[in-house]
Amino acid sequence: MSGLDRARRVVVKVGSALVAGAGGGSADAAWLAAFAADAARLRARGQQVLVVSSGSIALGRRRLGLGRRALTIPEKQAAAAAGQSGLMRAWEEAFEPHGLAVAQVLLTRDDTEVRRRWLNGRATLETLLDLGVIPVINENDTVVTEEIRYGDNDRLAARVAQMIGADVLVLLSDIDGLYTADPRREPDARHLARIERLTAEIEAMAGGANAGAGVGTGGMATKLAAARIAQSAGCATVITLGTRPAPLKAVEEGERSTVIEPATTPAAAYKAWIAGSLAPGGALIVDEGAAQALGRGKSLLAAGVRRVEGRFGKGDAVVIRDEAGREVGRGLSRYDAADAERVCGLKSDAIEAVLGYTAGPLIHVDDLALADRAKA
Ligand code: GLU
Repeated sequence: MSGLDRARRVVVKVGSALVAGAGGGSADAAWLAAFAADAARLRARGQQVLVVSSGSIALGRRRLGLGRRALTIPEKQAAAAAGQSGLMRAWEEAFEPHGLAVAQVLLTRDDTEVRRRWLNGRATLETLLDLGVIPVINENDTVVTEEIRYGDNDRLAARVAQMIGADVLVLLSDIDGLYTADPRREPDARHLARIERLTAEIEAMAGGANAGAGVGTGGMATKLAAARIAQSAGCATVITLGTRPAPLKAVEEGERSTVIEPATTPAAAYKAWIAGSLAPGGALIVDEGAAQALGRGKSLLAAGVRRVEGRFGKGDAVVIRDEAGREVGRGLSRYDAADAERVCGLKSDAIEAVLGYTAGPLIHVDDLALADRAKA
């Protein structure tokens, strides 16, 4: 089971071969129209859809008359710049008949790896989704150099899925899933419908498969790398054939695909990340009432904070302690240390008068991982 019919948030990665088609000139409008109808069906059920679309380099190379020869890195970047606008126009036109607006989001690796930018990117994507828009995301190829690229949109899509807590990541491919060997060369290759754990043996199977795809950069190995990121973020990955007219519907109807199961839930993965892998930059000392409120699933309000210790920026991880010094939890602070200091002890509606802005609670419940003391 892919879980696609029940997912709240779905990220779909669309490769260059699908968007750009085989022919010359512009994007494959017929494929895009069919896909948009399929995605609009999910939207109509109240599900949120984000598209990660490749194709800027493939379209740009045609636009600039660069033929099929190997491109230098600056040429690729130039092609990406020339192709991205046509790519977005094609997406606009595809979703227009369904009354759905699209929004271009160009990310670089730092946007998903530097926490502050990550929080900004996440806030923008959340806002777009709340507004009912379909974000169409690509790597900002024009400004990234080879060393700092994601390099392929499979991994970019997995990072996006992680960033916004998606339930399902769909990687549309030129093959209907993962096989024990390349089925185009080995007729005995067996299709794998469901993978619970990504073992070394499975990764070995991906070697070489999909190598003939031609237009895009990602092969099956990068799809598994993406699936690994998604799996630990609590997101299922579906690898399926993108050339079907309604590839998402096909997955729901049980057509052949490979589902890689998540290892956790998106919320638990996010909390584990806050609790475990971030070095806290400071501490918020809270009163007993606040410590208990946190245990009941509330956000940390400024009113319950007695003292602020250490130096931290907006979005940094901080540790929350009670007045006896026991750890209550960890979370991401919505204010830097200086501003937190100025508002601690204040009621929420008094914050704006002091700071000139308000970012809501000091730590929102969604960005909070409780320690055992508060859970008890
Ligand atoms: N970002 C590249 C493009 O839009 C594609 C990378 C990929 O296909 O993996 O052309």
